[in-house]
Amino acid sequence: MAETLIKVDLNQSPYENENIHNRWHPDIPMATWVKPGDDFILETYDWTGGFIKNNNSADDVRDIDLTIVHFLTGPVGVHGAEPGDLLVVELLDVGAKQDSMWGFNGFFSKKNGGGFLDEHFSQAQKSIWDIKGMFTTSRHVPGVQYAGLIHPGLIGCLPDPKLLANWNEREGALIATDPNRVPALGCPPCAETAHMGKMTGASKAKAAAEGARTVPPREHGGNCDIKDLSRGSKIFFPVYVKGAGLSVGDLHFSQGDGEITFCGAIEMAGWVHMRVSVIKGGIATYGIKNPIFKPSPITPNYNDYLIFEGISVDEKGKQHYLDVNVAYRQACLNAINYLTKFGYSRAQAYSILGTAPCEGHISGVVDIPNSCATLWIPTQIFDFDVNPSAAGPVVQNFKGVDMPMSRDLD
Ligand code: ZN
Repeated sequence: MAETLIKVDLNQSPYENENIHNRWHPDIPMATWVKPGDDFILETYDWTGGFIKNNNSADDVRDIDLTIVHFLTGPVGVHGAEPGDLLVVELLDVGAKQDSMWGFNGFFSKKNGGGFLDEHFSQAQKSIWDIKGMFTTSRHVPGVQYAGLIHPGLIGCLPDPKLLANWNEREGALIATDPNRVPALGCPPCAETAHMGKMTGASKAKAAAEGARTVPPREHGGNCDIKDLSRGSKIFFPVYVKGAGLSVGDLHFSQGDGEITFCGAIEMAGWVHMRVSVIKGGIATYGIKNPIFKPSPITPNYNDYLIFEGISVDEKGKQHYLDVNVAYRQACLNAINYLTKFGYSRAQAYSILGTAPCEGHISGVVDIPNSCATLWIPTQIFDFDVNPSAAGPVVQNFKGVDMPMSRDLD
């Protein structure tokens, strides 16, 4: 039995656990050390550290201070890992915490985080998903059941001072182009809510003031939210500091490509069983800038899809030039429209796209002026026939069940 090197108590604030941090900074001390070849278990909070509750109100999604996220477990130091190496991480298994067999999906208010379709879903909404073994269902989104494609949304190694400075400089420059934009263009450092692991005193204050937020994916991986980086996959991370400093969190039971509702997966607290090794000098040997990975040998066996196309003409009819983001948004909106014909609310349909193992593909990027993106919905997740037919959709009786919504306070 692998040893659980870091435990979390879901009844304790993550700020009281010195093996947790919520910023990236080279000075955060290692929470623990392992050797190449070791396998071990790390427990994690959900990304909000327990702020979102298993209830029927979206007030917590509306009210959360998003500068507190993400609560990560680590960093784990790996003996012998040095800058220029690749850290090889095998995700041997990932699961939900036994005392917390549920997860949540949220749409954030446009005024507090927003999301991919926040023009259409501007108020906070939430759905709760129960986890039964390898499957999940929701009391707020009837008619579907998925097998888990369980993965960490966020995993990566500590940056070195130069890389950290580069992040802060380039993101700061972008934010400066429109500092008052809602939602914001980026997430600058925020010392007030920084949790720097074991750090204390003046060194903590300095690091907290410059520690990078965990929101975007960057060269080190970080918050990539790749659904296929699931249990059984093997990841090769660039190492920037002595010991590498591997941290993980933001576990997802299931997610569609794009994590489109922002809090778009089924977010959960859980554990990761992993094994680490090192490829000396691997960054130069393989020309690595961002992580690379091998997928899991085991994925849910969905092989029939209904596929929605979208092009880079937005919902107001405006032509965009080869804009994949616009095209994917149209594919998602087309899928939402379609699912409402079977009795779903627009919110439930959006939630399905965010939480089910939907595939998103960039299908064409050269046929000017339109790029084409496709959204693939696995048909086998529905407990009714969702295919088009001459007879028309059989409207399901969902008995008025819907997702709770909380309107903005002012
Ligand atoms: Zn997440």
